[in-house]
Amino acid sequence: MTSPSAGWLTGSLTRAHPLTTSARSITFTVPSWPGNDAGQHVDVRLTSPDGYQAVRSYSIASAGPGEMIELAIDRLPDGEVSPFLVNDLELGDTVELRGPLGGWFVWRPDQPQPVQLIAGGSGVVPFIAMTRAHASAGNSVPMQLLYSLRTPEDAFFRDELSQLAATVRTTWHYTSIVPPGWSRSAGRLTAKDLQRETLPPEKTPLTYICGSTGFVETVSRALTSLGHAPDAIRTERFGGT
Ligand SMILES: Cc1cc2nc3c(=O)[nH]c(=O)nc-3n(C[C@H](O)[C@H](O)[C@H](O)COP(=O)(O)OP(=O)(O)OC[C@H]3O[C@@H](n4cnc5c(N)ncnc54)[C@H](O)[C@@H]3O)c2cc1C
Repeated sequence: MTSPSAGWLTGSLTRAHPLTTSARSITFTVPSWPGNDAGQHVDVRLTSPDGYQAVRSYSIASAGPGEMIELAIDRLPDGEVSPFLVNDLELGDTVELRGPLGGWFVWRPDQPQPVQLIAGGSGVVPFIAMTRAHASAGNSVPMQLLYSLRTPEDAFFRDELSQLAATVRTTWHYTSIVPPGWSRSAGRLTAKDLQRETLPPEKTPLTYICGSTGFVETVSRALTSLGHAPDAIRTERFGGT
């Protein structure tokens, strides 16, 4: 595991682009950043002129050594921090960052097991780091992603995931609106969907699930009922219901 820096570091916003109408990729240059493993996260601290501080955790979409880290933030309409990061932070602005954090929800190229990734909404962010690490290592371990999202417009990194299709297959699942001509109707992931679209227990995959608390709990319960060993399932909860 890549260990965290000793304290808060200053990151300067170097690159930014929209991912969807409500989400944005933001890349910081962070001098003394120690690098990070795929799946780790970072704490972001904002301080207002009157000294009020707010801290939120964000998964890191990038992985490996270097002083640049990419985050992907979904704006919650009533949120305190995410609207600022998506709408207001400008190139050259700085935030404080602490990390990388988390040693359990990580994937390293020397892990031998096949990997099943299951994302709900912005929960895809740590999996972008994992698919990038898998591709840059030229890794031959099977890895596949099941990405559940509300509508086609809500997809993060769709082009990049399509480009990786030869090494990491992505299965898209829509809960509210499906693309024209889509063979499945919209709806929440069911145990049947998981049975059809994910690696079966016989292949002894390591399964990672990330998304809202409700999503993670529903999916992990369903996987256990399908015969997956609880200790072969790793979860990360982003909050919410
Ligand atoms: C380890 C970790 C990694 C995370 N990585 C990401 C990431 O890569 N991208 C990202 O966009 N977010 C991520 N989050 C969520 C993030 O930390 C914040 O919770 C989110 O940005 C909302 O913060 P806010 O200040 O805008 O909203 P707040 O002011 O904190 O909350 C506003 C309202 O939204 C609810 N809420 C909080 N979080 C969520 C949520 N995730 N879904 C639905 N409702 C919620 C709260 O209960 C509250 O009612 C991660 C969380 C964790 C714990």
